[in-house]
Amino acid sequence: MGRVSVAVELQSKYETVIGMEVHVQLLTQSKIFCGCSTRFGDPPNTHTCPVCLGLPGALPTLNRQAVTMAMKAATALNCVINSESRFARKNYFYPDLPKGYQISQYDEPLAENGWLNIEVEGRRKRIGITRVHLEEDAGKSLHEGFPDSDRNSYIDLNRSGVPLIEIVSEPELRSPEEAYEFVTRLRTMILYLGISDCNMEEGSLRCDANASVRPVGTSTFGTKTEVKNLNSFRFLHKALAYEAARQIEVIESGNKVEQETRLWDSRDQRTYGMRSKEFAHDYRYFPEPDLLPLTIAEEWKEEVLRSLPELPDARKDRFERQYALPAYDAGQLTSSKALAGYYENVVKAGADPKLAANWVLSELMHLLNEAKREVTESPVRARDLAELLSLVAQGSISGKMGKDILVEMFSSSKGPRQVMSEKGLEQINDPGMIAAAAREIITANPKQTAQYRSGKTATLGWFVGQVMKSTRGQANPQMVQEILKKELGGVSG
Ligand SMILES: [Zn+2]
Repeated sequence: MGRVSVAVELQSKYETVIGMEVHVQLLTQSKIFCGCSTRFGDPPNTHTCPVCLGLPGALPTLNRQAVTMAMKAATALNCVINSESRFARKNYFYPDLPKGYQISQYDEPLAENGWLNIEVEGRRKRIGITRVHLEEDAGKSLHEGFPDSDRNSYIDLNRSGVPLIEIVSEPELRSPEEAYEFVTRLRTMILYLGISDCNMEEGSLRCDANASVRPVGTSTFGTKTEVKNLNSFRFLHKALAYEAARQIEVIESGNKVEQETRLWDSRDQRTYGMRSKEFAHDYRYFPEPDLLPLTIAEEWKEEVLRSLPELPDARKDRFERQYALPAYDAGQLTSSKALAGYYENVVKAGADPKLAANWVLSELMHLLNEAKREVTESPVRARDLAELLSLVAQGSISGKMGKDILVEMFSSSKGPRQVMSEKGLEQINDPGMIAAAAREIITANPKQTAQYRSGKTATLGWFVGQVMKSTRGQANPQMVQEILKKELGGVSG
């Protein structure tokens, strides 16, 4: 089967229903049930012990830090944290799962009934969070990169027992765009909390989606498929768009969508059926006998609540209020904790908030993107940018000159005044020099001069531009304006 293309009018007859399951690897030092390191990228099988190797008789001990981090996520997602939850064994066979079961949570999860806001066409939409639970990661099968990879696979158990949280949403997302937005927002939130690096390439953020379609206006759910392997934001969107179109085609051709697990194949740009979907009873869940129920006292919950940083939505609202920024700018600036922090440092160092927002979002972001750098690696310090912006705001330098200086600041990490003196970009504040330049322009443009003198004073801006140009942007713009008015003389009529 090739690409699925469903006519637009047919697509508009259907509504897509999506629920997300997101696994997030927590940034603890050690694994969830043993003291082994969680460090990524070390030689295979160097962070293992009897517990995470699943040797008989080894007993798990719960990592308190993992629980605290999971509670942070659950609290930020407005969930109710259960005072008592329970670990359960999820039984299945896989070569990278030495115990033959995964310790997870089942019918008594850590937290339930929360929500996360997403923004759709400028409006906030609340997406329900069904649950947040803790579990251990499995190891990793290595099928590539060895001389005998055509015949053998290898197993690395460094990841076995690394703590994960699974976040499950309600099926309240209505398009691939909304699913994309949901995961983006969730990732931003987790990064604000500092509990995961959310690196999709290294697998610290993994998404699966349940997707179904139904005729617009109906309320019963269609048969859903579980789409796995959505390990980049781009794939997530493409795979869900593909899957929705595929299901519409199946239904329109008189067939039934099968409940199954499908994998996204990024090379062929399609999903394909992997196996019929397992049901919970296939896993023979039962309470983990080697761990006590997880009891969480009120004080612990309060401690976690107090430790939460300001979250993205709240920060965005505050930026709109405190700095009088448009919603779009506030949203962009708070889309990363680091960017929001940088912006606030520029403002705290004395820059005008609106001017700072424009320069950070356009000029600085442009330079950072070109250099493929994060804002945390910006060669321009916040206080240097603030100083530059003050010079622009006072009219000491023109905006154009400011942009040139910023480029130089970016490549050299120097402050604006140093760049200006080194480049001979010092401002011309000498009235004599400016008057001479002004007279030259006036003499060379008798037509415009006559227009101005006959009352078309709007041409003043044109004169200012000419003088700025002839002084390579170095003349003090305010002085240019004043001197030009004087030199052009009184207006008749
Ligand atoms: Zn271990």
